[in-house]
Amino acid sequence: ENYKASDNRYDTMTYRRCGKSGLLLPAISLGLWHNFGSVDVFNNFVQIAYTAFDNGITHFDLANNYGPTYGSAEENFGQILKKGLGLYRDELIISSKAGYDMWPGPYGNWGSRKYLMASLDQSLKRMGIDYVDIFYSHRPDPETPIEETMCALADMVHQGKALYVGISNYNAEQTRTAISVLKEMKVPCLIHQARYSMFDRWVEPELLQLLDENGVGMIAFSPLAQGLLTNKYLHGIPENSRAAKSTGHLRSDQVTEDKIAKIKLLNDLAEQRGQTLAEMALAWLLKDNRVTSVIIGASSVTQLKDNLKALDNAEFTPDELCEIENILK
Ligand code: NDP
Repeated sequence: ENYKASDNRYDTMTYRRCGKSGLLLPAISLGLWHNFGSVDVFNNFVQIAYTAFDNGITHFDLANNYGPTYGSAEENFGQILKKGLGLYRDELIISSKAGYDMWPGPYGNWGSRKYLMASLDQSLKRMGIDYVDIFYSHRPDPETPIEETMCALADMVHQGKALYVGISNYNAEQTRTAISVLKEMKVPCLIHQARYSMFDRWVEPELLQLLDENGVGMIAFSPLAQGLLTNKYLHGIPENSRAAKSTGHLRSDQVTEDKIAKIKLLNDLAEQRGQTLAEMALAWLLKDNRVTSVIIGASSVTQLKDNLKALDNAEFTPDELCEIENILK
């Protein structure tokens, strides 16, 4: 039962250049924050990963603490690689990160060189690989000089443990500094990973423009607002949804009346366009070519396949865009 990839895996996906780098990323990437931990069902997430790669999703996004438990998503992804996906290592872009709480004591969190270096080594061990393709500083650290954090990233590249580096959750000002510090060290900032969806537009307009001007790619996380921008919460909170699970990061009190009202209107518009709300929400982000990729999560193969269909209709008329703005207002 070793995995063999589909021969048609590159037939339908589109790839976009990440900023002004040499790297192309799939328009849709897969994130392992939820659904791949020790609390999840092995056979289910193995099938999700295989289906992703069979459909041209070359990019898998991880972090040291994805699970729960911490580290288990990387361990499980290591198992998936071992079961056969790893034969295609040169066709894969694997990312990891450090910056949030990971292990006890003063060296298991934030942005020191001490933490980042140790964490990357642990991630490589858990996944059973020699290098990651992209390593991120997961969040800015107000206490550590940004030079120290960026220097650690640059050294990972020099050590061959990361091919590219990026930042996540840095605001525009912090991003400007990070880009220029990395530039001085001749290790360009490849990419910025930021929350971006119809429901969370903090990256507009300043950060998006800054990244574009500096040739840095942008990859959007939680593009479905953790599942809100789908048809799943239209009639309450279903069992087994992220908002219902104790291990989910979407709290049931975030599923508000106001949100549901907007979701209903967006869902109607998506139906008129002949697609699901999930497909429309992803297409809406990808209409901006400064967005290199959207990192989706999926708890089933069915969801993943639905999300892939976003690429079938990614054009919006001016009227549709206007209607979306009115709904979101
Ligand atoms: P999404 O906004 O795509 O939410 C994914 C969830 O939405 C799924 O787990 C599922 O939830 C539901 N869903 C997905 N597709 C469908 C569908 N077609 N129909 C109905 N429901 C659907 O992304 P995530 O919040 O999971 O984030 C994606 C990735 O981004 C993470 O895995 C991680 O890699 C990255 N990330 C990075 C962060 C950072 O700080 N850098 C922070 C957060 C995420 P359900 O379980 O309810 O079925």
